Amino acid sequence: MDFNDTPEDAVYRAKASAWLAANAGEYRNPPAIPYSREEFVRRSRAWQKAKHAAGYTGITWPMAMGGQGLSPMHSIVFSQEQSRYHVPTSLFDIGLGMCLPTVFTHGQPDVVARYVAPALAGDEVWCQLFSEPAAGSDLAGIRTKAVKDGDDWVIDGQKVWTTNAHLSDYGIIVTRTDPSAPKHKGLTMFIVDMHGPGVEARPLKQMSGGSDFNEVFFTGVRVSDSHRLGAVGDGWKVALTTLMHERLAVGGKPSHAPGYATLMALAATIDTDTGPAMAQRDVRQRIAASYIADEGIKLTQMRALSALAKGQVPGPEQSISKVVVAKTMQDMAAFAMDLNEAGGFVTTGADPDLARLQGSYMASAGLRIAGGTDEILRNIIAERVLGLPGDLRPDKDLPFNASVAA
Ligand SMILES: Cc1cc2nc3c(=O)[nH]c(=O)nc-3n(C[C@H](O)[C@H](O)[C@H](O)COP(=O)(O)OP(=O)(O)OC[C@H]3O[C@@H](n4cnc5c(N)ncnc54)[C@H](O)[C@@H]3O)c2cc1C
Repeated sequence: MDFNDTPEDAVYRAKASAWLAANAGEYRNPPAIPYSREEFVRRSRAWQKAKHAAGYTGITWPMAMGGQGLSPMHSIVFSQEQSRYHVPTSLFDIGLGMCLPTVFTHGQPDVVARYVAPALAGDEVWCQLFSEPAAGSDLAGIRTKAVKDGDDWVIDGQKVWTTNAHLSDYGIIVTRTDPSAPKHKGLTMFIVDMHGPGVEARPLKQMSGGSDFNEVFFTGVRVSDSHRLGAVGDGWKVALTTLMHERLAVGGKPSHAPGYATLMALAATIDTDTGPAMAQRDVRQRIAASYIADEGIKLTQMRALSALAKGQVPGPEQSISKVVVAKTMQDMAAFAMDLNEAGGFVTTGADPDLARLQGSYMASAGLRIAGGTDEILRNIIAERVLGLPGDLRPDKDLPFNASVAA
């Protein structure tokens, strides 16, 4: 494993770094108070537009799709440099990271041409409509149905946990089009207009006070057959394209997550009832454990980067990163809150550093679920990395409508 940039990567890094220094200066520090929803959307769009104008969007996408046609390493180098700033990117992460790659892999050419450019330019926001009340880990168990009617399909059902659905213009949706086929075979995917008649997004309140995700109800929603992604009944294969991009996206450590350096800095300033925090052996042991976890995560991510640099796609071992990152982030945030003693749970928002720690603490539980729960990822590691016997899947080959209660 070579941690140094190739000469070509070094040139790209210097160029990206100079552009960011000139354009992201106002984001050197996190905002003192979190943005309102309107301000977050306004700033996210403006930042996406600035990057688009400078040629830093769709870095790995084919040039024919409006991308830059560069390598995954270029994209990683830009992300690394961008992560030095607190720029708002999350509004576009799902669309550009997962939905649009699915659209341009499986969509019809005129549909691809219609949607890709506005998404890259930050004009349109997308969401991923997969999970349902009875289908999360077992995604193939979805019940939202689509029935053909002339040139259209009519969609009825409910999705849940849909991040940014309330802010989105379009979504990619998995539906059941043949309930008599085995559950993975009767699925079809579509692009759906989130502002169209019959679509209702209801934001869910989170413990942080925010509302990032939604329940979404579909009642008689009409979608043209031209907006189908892949063949009828091939929805599972299309969904795997999205999930592959999701797994790559969620394996990294979020830039706002506390690391061992945060804990060191905190412990150096805090006096507990029994003396300075840093003088206590258990505090120092926890910081040392955090350092080891941080370094392990960094090296595992470097392994994935090395694979990408050699033109390989990181395999199921990428699940290791996600399991460890999410748990470590939760442990470190919990420890940082403990170090702050009772103050760790005061939520006046007056101390921006503390507010960020609280945010990390509350977000970390979701990180252990989103993009595959710890248990599901451990199953993947057991089956595909270690070669252990597979999980029991008794309903896999049964017709869907014979395996579920109506
Ligand atoms: C922050 C966040 C954002 C999200 N954003 C989106 C989004 O934008 N779009 C979207 O479609 N979905 C989204 N989700 C939903 C997410 O994909 C699901 O929550 C996830 O797949 C788990 O599904 P579930 O919640 O139905 O839990 P379940 O699948 O019902 O799991 C419940 C528990 O059972 C365990 N379990 C289930 N099956 C097995 C098994 N075979 N072996 C062992 N244990 C098992 C799970 O690990 C878990 O602990 C988001 C979730 C979160 C937390």
